[in-house]
Amino acid sequence: MRILVTGGAGYIGSHTCVELLARGDAVTVIDNLSNSREESLRRVEGLTGREVDFHRVDLLDRPGLDRVMAIAQPESVIHFAGLKAVGESVREPLRYHQNNVAGTLHLVEAMAAIGCRRLVFSSSATVYGHGAPPLREAAPLGATNPYGKTKWIIEEICRDLAASDPAWRIALLRYFNPVGAHPSGQIGEDPQGLPNNLMPYVLQVAVGRLPHLNVFGTDWPTPDGTGIRDYLHVVDLARGHLAAVDHLDRLAGCVAINLGTGRGTSVLELVSGVERASGKRVPWQPSSRRSGDVAVSFADPTLAKELLGWTAELGLDAMCSDAWRWQVGNPRGFAAAP
Ligand code: NAD
Ligand code: UDP
Repeated sequence: MRILVTGGAGYIGSHTCVELLARGDAVTVIDNLSNSREESLRRVEGLTGREVDFHRVDLLDRPGLDRVMAIAQPESVIHFAGLKAVGESVREPLRYHQNNVAGTLHLVEAMAAIGCRRLVFSSSATVYGHGAPPLREAAPLGATNPYGKTKWIIEEICRDLAASDPAWRIALLRYFNPVGAHPSGQIGEDPQGLPNNLMPYVLQVAVGRLPHLNVFGTDWPTPDGTGIRDYLHVVDLARGHLAAVDHLDRLAGCVAINLGTGRGTSVLELVSGVERASGKRVPWQPSSRRSGDVAVSFADPTLAKELLGWTAELGLDAMCSDAWRWQVGNPRGFAAAP
């Protein structure tokens, strides 16, 4: 299949490109490299022995987008491109709405212009706001920050679009907490500056770049007092996108689907996992709760199994050892590459 991947140079996009190329799909990537480096795609090519048709284009550049669409003529689009830092979105809400929402409007318009109406979109469990786990797709939506609101708004736009024209087939994939890296250690998450998320922070402590982890709350109503999340191996997540693309024709219009394991892991359990994988101690200190956090979040992944035949296969040890291999082989991410 000919597939256009927006944001394909990023963390989840690059892992998805590996899986697409490995099974023989033709992959075109659009990315403005605002949060990634072209080196990730060079490594994707090295891992698969196949070429990525890369275009450094911003989704807000509609003529540029139209040019790539016209050349690539994709049969399906997987749309990862977006800004994703919650704290930054609170400080710069208009930038987030402009980039994520307006960027998606450009994308679906450009798709319609060439007659492509098959879309897989990166949504997020953040659209559940403060819902009670296990979270099912029918749970009420309620984003608590501008980043989450952009995901919610884009979901609504997609639902309206599919209702207006039954030719649209849209899978809204609500990811839980993607972590880990390709088992080769060649590609992985490469956060710029201080990591916001738990796994990259813990890895940077284990590798000696940061002195200790601040644990945001040790008095949550959970067995060890720390927050519980549904961590999901990025390779499992990437494969979920292939399953979604393959099942688009069988989905009715626009469907939201959770991608998670259905299992919860606490902050301290994840710290232990990284310690086992790395053989390093990860010092940590109790710190106050982070505003907007919930105690426990994990998916009900039943619908993904029913509709896509997809379930997560890789456990916490694989997530930690693959993430560690990437971190130790690339302590400064892609920046140190020639
Ligand atoms: P990432 O930042 O590594 O990848 C996003 C890519 O999009 C980057 O390469 C960036 O340069 C590109 N991009 C951003 N705005 C663009 C624009 N206007 N035009 C062209 N390219 C643009 O992020 P990721 O972790 O790979 O996440 C991918 C998607 O999944 C995002 O939409 C994110 O919101 C969503 N998501 C991520 C997580 C997570 O924990 N990583 C969880 C839920 C949802
Ligand atoms: N967390 C933490 N210290 C950090 C980063 C995160 O204790 O430096 C905790 C956070 O409070 C939550 C869990 O780790 O309980 C996962 O946080 P992350 O930001 O990775 O994911 P999210 O909260 O968005 O699901």
